[in-house]
Amino acid sequence: MSDGKYDRSGDGILEKYHKRTENRKRKILIIDDEKISCSVLRRILEDRYDILTAGNGQEALEIMNEQKYEISLILLDLMMPVMDGYEFLDYIMKDAQFSVIPVIVTTSRDQDEDEIRCLEHGAVDFVSKPYHPEVVRKRVDRIIHLRETAAILNVVEHDRLTGLYSKESFYLKAEQLLEKNPEQSYDMIVADVNGFKVINERLGMKLGDKVLCYMADRYRKVLGENGICTRLHGDVFAMMVVHGVKDMERELLWKWNEPVEGIPLRTIDIKYGIYENVNHEVPPFVMCDRAMLALSRIKKLYGRHISRYDDSLRAHLVREQQILDTMEEALEEHQFEVYYQPKYNMEDENVSGAEALVRWFHPQFGFMSPGEFIPLFEKNGFITKLDFYIWEETCKNLKKWKTEGRRPIPVSVNISQMDFAVLDLAEKITSLVDAYGIDRELLHLEITETVYTQDREHITQTVNQLRQNGFKIEMDDFGTGYSSLNVLSELSIDVLKLDMKFIQKHADNRRSLLGFVISLSKWLNLETIAEGVETKEQVEQLKSFGCDYVQGYYYAKPMPKEAFERCLEKDVYKVRTEKKNLADASEQLDMEEKKDTVLIVEDNEMNREILRNMVSPYYHVKEAGNGQEAYDYLMMNSTEISVILLDMLMPVMDGFTFMKKKNQNKEFSEIPVIITSESDENSELKTLQMGADRFVGKPYHQELLLLSIQATLRKRKKTTNVEENL
Ligand code: C2E
Ligand code: CA
Ligand code: CA
Repeated sequence: MSDGKYDRSGDGILEKYHKRTENRKRKILIIDDEKISCSVLRRILEDRYDILTAGNGQEALEIMNEQKYEISLILLDLMMPVMDGYEFLDYIMKDAQFSVIPVIVTTSRDQDEDEIRCLEHGAVDFVSKPYHPEVVRKRVDRIIHLRETAAILNVVEHDRLTGLYSKESFYLKAEQLLEKNPEQSYDMIVADVNGFKVINERLGMKLGDKVLCYMADRYRKVLGENGICTRLHGDVFAMMVVHGVKDMERELLWKWNEPVEGIPLRTIDIKYGIYENVNHEVPPFVMCDRAMLALSRIKKLYGRHISRYDDSLRAHLVREQQILDTMEEALEEHQFEVYYQPKYNMEDENVSGAEALVRWFHPQFGFMSPGEFIPLFEKNGFITKLDFYIWEETCKNLKKWKTEGRRPIPVSVNISQMDFAVLDLAEKITSLVDAYGIDRELLHLEITETVYTQDREHITQTVNQLRQNGFKIEMDDFGTGYSSLNVLSELSIDVLKLDMKFIQKHADNRRSLLGFVISLSKWLNLETIAEGVETKEQVEQLKSFGCDYVQGYYYAKPMPKEAFERCLEKDVYKVRTEKKNLADASEQLDMEEKKDTVLIVEDNEMNREILRNMVSPYYHVKEAGNGQEAYDYLMMNSTEISVILLDMLMPVMDGFTFMKKKNQNKEFSEIPVIITSESDENSELKTLQMGADRFVGKPYHQELLLLSIQATLRKRKKTTNVEENL
């Protein structure tokens, strides 16, 4: 332990210190205007001490300025001309360096009042005239001994390397400061040198220490009277500083440019975590923790140097903790669910597979996306348990579909880095799949490219084993791990999966990059699947490059098992604008439902036109530019409208308000509503909760839209029939 706290109990250090200094002759300054008085004291003390004398306060200060570090004690006469003893005491007590020198007052009048007064002014003791030599000596000896003991205690209260407060005394001082100044706002700042280990390793411990001392000096100087500083440990400093001192923060966090022993400090990367306006109720070590938490968020972010603690960060951390606290229970209670995102064959645009993606329906937080909890589970290892659960759920479904006699469809599951640490991973997956009696080829395994770059030998071995056992391997997120061509050709994989998001990053040459990657994978005899496909343009590109499969919001989002089954049955989503299918749909529509009128509520002219073009061949169309217009129209013509297509974001009256008003009006509350809006899980859920019947997100899909209208109308007719029959 380098911290002083533990030295204080055993007196070892003190003893050593006193031994070391025993032989040294200490200096005493006698201040007295009476020469005789001075020489009496000198005679009493000079065999043990070096004596300095001053005839008045002014002279004394001159001597002290020169020798302040050497003077162990001052003997001060109270009654002096020019500057009397009290004034002198007041003066030196205000000075940080002078005030540490103990003062014994000499007084000729043996009066209690004087004694008390001089103690109040900062003297530590007094001796009265006429002097009793033994008493003077004893008192001087005792005071010097005491003060030096206190000083040594002071030394161990400090960090030996930097001279800053030790952690414990820092916390103590911080508490005192907060107590003394309850109205004052303070900030807690922690500083951490990024990659300090490297500095130590490359330049040696000694230089490393120098850098730390330099930092300490800098902080101490900048803080001055406005704050206190400690080295928490290693290369981590903490400071408590008065909030809002002009330029203080900038000075503290300044990029440093004075080289220390030739090390340009500019190259030293210091990260700061700041907990501003600390809550006085919180103990200082918790303040440091909070500042550290803020710091930890930017620890690995290049170019970020300052991170502030705020309540949202706290809420975030609390939520993280709650996630970790509830995960085991969630697994037992089947709160995790597998969603399936269809994969489409580019040739015929039929559903040709799916990816299993986990979702968590948390009793407290509701729907949670894996982006929030998977990284946490990857950190704490719970991912291996969860993954196994997801694999097993997927197997169960594959088996169910098999027994239901559905067309066999491969489903891919994700395997994370951590899973490879599991003993006999290949064996475990194989026996799982076998236990459900599923064709091994139907379970595809998605492994991200970056995993391969970690522990290549072990990973390759496991993957080879799995492949030999008959599983298909997809390399996920290809393009993020910088695999070289060499590596790629050596790995045993079946499918390259590229994420449009990553390829889009290089917008300039994305066409060529995309084309290159696809031809590369063809050359390696691999199949390609593109995921994150969101636009028609992307689909066209991928098609032109000969990509085999696609997956993305353009076609379908991840969906619950039941929805996916429906998707398989109908292939509703297949072939976006293929004429043939549309003709089929229109044939049906022609027969059944041409008389209905659709009210399109949409402020955007272009969207309205698109919708009109899609719908008008089969239905009468009315249009409104916002909720208010639509509402006014319904007030007059409610019986005319069969279904409403509603955008949510509109001026004057938005979709939500419209829904609310519409639902309150008996005349037309029953008219079904299909939301045609920007789709995300929140708004989708919200509108459905508000009573919307369906959600058809942008970009619009004619067939899907028509089928939705058709289904809605059919459902409505059924219910009206039932009502009529009653
Ligand atoms: P991933 O394996 O790359 O999965 C693809 C992610 O992209 C999914 O996000 C999917 O919903 C999303 N996505 C699909 N199409 C589109 C699109 O057109 N546009 C956009 N912007 N995104 C699209 P999700 O489901 O939130 O999963 C995120 C990540 O979480 C996954 O990335 C995967 O790494 C991980 N993950 C999900 N489920 C599991 C699991 O069961 N086990 C493990 N180990 N990881 C999982
Ligand atoms: Ca994946
Ligand atoms: Ca992916």
